[in-house]
Amino acid sequence: MTAEEILSYIRNVPDFPKEGILFKDITTAIKEPKVYAAIIDYLAKLVKDLDFDYIAAIESRGYIIGAPLAYKLNKGLIIIRKPGKLPAEVVREDYSLEYGVDSLEMHKDAVKKGDKVLVVDDLLATGGTAEAACKLVKKVGADVIGCLFLLELVALSQNADLPTPVYSLIKC
Ligand code: AMP
Repeated sequence: MTAEEILSYIRNVPDFPKEGILFKDITTAIKEPKVYAAIIDYLAKLVKDLDFDYIAAIESRGYIIGAPLAYKLNKGLIIIRKPGKLPAEVVREDYSLEYGVDSLEMHKDAVKKGDKVLVVDDLLATGGTAEAACKLVKKVGADVIGCLFLLELVALSQNADLPTPVYSLIKC
């Protein structure tokens, strides 16, 4: 399966969650076993030569990508969540995204100084979400070695200000 074929399984939903946003709906891709497997296999290949200890996956669609990838690559999985969900002490970052403002939290002891982390999400748009995730990892002293996405919206991501190399499977 090619990247173009994977893209053909991703549904475009106009004006969601608000007018003017073309939402890339991956549910139509991941419900097909062959497509989901191809997505994870391709992404694993993209980062197989990188040296890192953990995947930090961003709630919630980042988990769909990050969890199977961590399992496949034998890495630890770090969960970055929306506010108020994590039970222990957290660090917090506020950020803006394509359609609003939000915050992310991570357990303070999730990673430590010297740990190498790959930040993973389903889609890169303006980069605000991934940038906040990178800041959380750095706040506790760990290093972000890269950011990985299934989809990159190039019209928006060209203005993204991510502090690390960006890896994406499909640019559209
Ligand atoms: P951004 O912070 O602008 O890079 O937005 C990326 C985050 O918002 C990711 O967690 C995406 O899941 C979500 N997102 C932003 N724009 C879209 C879109 N057009 N389609 C699907 N998800 C999106």
